Amino acid sequence: MRQTLSAVLAAVVLCGLAMAANAPAPDFKLEPLGAGVWAAIGNDGGKAGANAGFVVGDDGVAVIDTFEDPGAAKDLLAEIRKITPLPIRFVINTHYHLDHVNGNDVFAAAGATILAQRNVRNWERTENLKWWGDKIKPEVKARVQSLKLPDVVYDSGVDLFLGSRKVEVRSYPGHTGGDSIVYIHDAGVVFCGDLFWNHHIPNLIDATTKAWVPTLDALMGYGAGKFVPGHGEPGTALEVKAFQQYLGDLRAAVAQAQSAGRSGDALVQAVLPQMQAKYADWGFFKEFAKSNIEQTSQELAGTKRLPKPAESAAANKPQVPYLPLRVQVGEKAPDFALPSASRGTVRLSALQGRAVLLDFYEGFW
Ligand SMILES: [Zn+2]
Repeated sequence: MRQTLSAVLAAVVLCGLAMAANAPAPDFKLEPLGAGVWAAIGNDGGKAGANAGFVVGDDGVAVIDTFEDPGAAKDLLAEIRKITPLPIRFVINTHYHLDHVNGNDVFAAAGATILAQRNVRNWERTENLKWWGDKIKPEVKARVQSLKLPDVVYDSGVDLFLGSRKVEVRSYPGHTGGDSIVYIHDAGVVFCGDLFWNHHIPNLIDATTKAWVPTLDALMGYGAGKFVPGHGEPGTALEVKAFQQYLGDLRAAVAQAQSAGRSGDALVQAVLPQMQAKYADWGFFKEFAKSNIEQTSQELAGTKRLPKPAESAAANKPQVPYLPLRVQVGEKAPDFALPSASRGTVRLSALQGRAVLLDFYEGFW
């Protein structure tokens, strides 16, 4: 009997160990931030590769970013399914970098409409190739070139409604030129994507730090209690301020070294110890501190290569605005003020039932 019991105990213990060994370490942890608002915080160096999040409303779910790995995205979808059976209606990509978009297809297959700033659609399948350089494997290249793109794009922002719950998406410059934040007013939460790195050194490969510093003032201006970064733990305005200070310190130190005539390696060697003294304990210091200095030096010298922005919808508008009004032939059409030359008026005529521009007069008829 004693023998049997110890055999059973041994089996239980062994089985438990085996399960612990087989269970993969979770790539992210869920953090509740308020009613129906969750952050999914990725482990540094893990498969998730970045943070994500989701908001549950009355009639559906909006997901913010989709991780670097489709497997981690599937795990996130499974976690959402444990919390709510409501449909995943929207995914917002905060920017094009692979660690925020590679799980898009998982959520598209679940029925979500994917939204992002206009440039994300232009850059997702092209600019994401640069992480590998010439040594990119054919299968990786094929994956990047077939990433699920946003279905809907906007220039400066869009409001989404999950029933009565409002999700405000707004674009800001700084990190890539195509970044958005997602503001949940009723929960006091801002999902910042990579416009905010909490206690982590940022990736500045596409950055314009000059524009980024005032963007962080704008984010703090939301007056939210919680700011979810693209990398690191959720923070408050204090941590956003500390991140802004990092960018300010970096810009000042690089500018000072440049004005002392330094460039290249000498400039890096002059600036790195100053950054190390203050930020050595930040995540990704080893990975990004040196390239941050080089890239900021290029930015300040005006030689930095940046991804080319897509033409905005406003730029694509015809010079003479299309006037969607119907008039009868012979009917007097109203005068219109041209938006770009407000001191003039236009006279319209009717052609096949449509108003057409007849002529333009500087002044008044
Ligand atoms: Zn990222």
